[in-house]
Amino acid sequence: MSVRAEFDAWAADGRDRGMEERHWHTAKHALARMPVETGDTVLDLGCGSGYAARALREADGAARAYGLDGAPEMVENARSYTDDPRVAYVVGDFQSLPFADDSVDHAFSMEAFYYAPDPVGALEELRRVLRPGGTFYCAVNYFEENVHTHEWQENIDIEMTLWDYEDYREAFRAAGFVVAEQDTIPDRETEIPPASEFPTDDWESREDMVERYREFGTLLTAGVVP
Ligand code: SAH
Repeated sequence: MSVRAEFDAWAADGRDRGMEERHWHTAKHALARMPVETGDTVLDLGCGSGYAARALREADGAARAYGLDGAPEMVENARSYTDDPRVAYVVGDFQSLPFADDSVDHAFSMEAFYYAPDPVGALEELRRVLRPGGTFYCAVNYFEENVHTHEWQENIDIEMTLWDYEDYREAFRAAGFVVAEQDTIPDRETEIPPASEFPTDDWESREDMVERYREFGTLLTAGVVP
């Protein structure tokens, strides 16, 4: 299935807002770490509902905030949630970004990068559009160490890249980034029921759920263009 077919269906179901709600628990901490300055141009890859571009505009005073997504229905939804003329949503693909060389100051992505058909190529493409000194903050919940998310691939027809911490750092370096930071951001907001309530529909044990959210949470890898 294509990105467009899969995620247009998600957007039509309102899953864009559902993801925003869940991802915001850790995405906001990743966004807060970005060195965005007033007047910057920022880009969110795989924007879904588009919350990250809105947040970077409002909190950091970005002059232009773009959200890019391969699913036109996602883009349409994102557009409907704001009337800020400095926020724009575009249909496009990670492998071929519709931006000029050296035109973006900082880029972000949450729970989207691993869908890239050629992830190192996507990083090289990002490197092309970022200015020297620009950064890419890449946040993912689906990664090798976080075993509790591996089953997601069974529910989606797009091939997902399952990298570990080191794979991310190596890929960033292979694409010409300097790795500035790598960290896991715990999700402290997803409610974890008391032990007596396990197993639940989704979780065998409380320990697994604690590990998934509080320990592994979201993997953030940040690269800087030299
Ligand atoms: N960042 C949002 C959405 C995550 S869902 C959030 O945190 O909620 C992943 C999104 O990436 C989907 O909207 C999907 O359409 C988009 N996507 C996946 N592969 C893509 C690709 N190759 N090019 C552009 N967008 C893609």
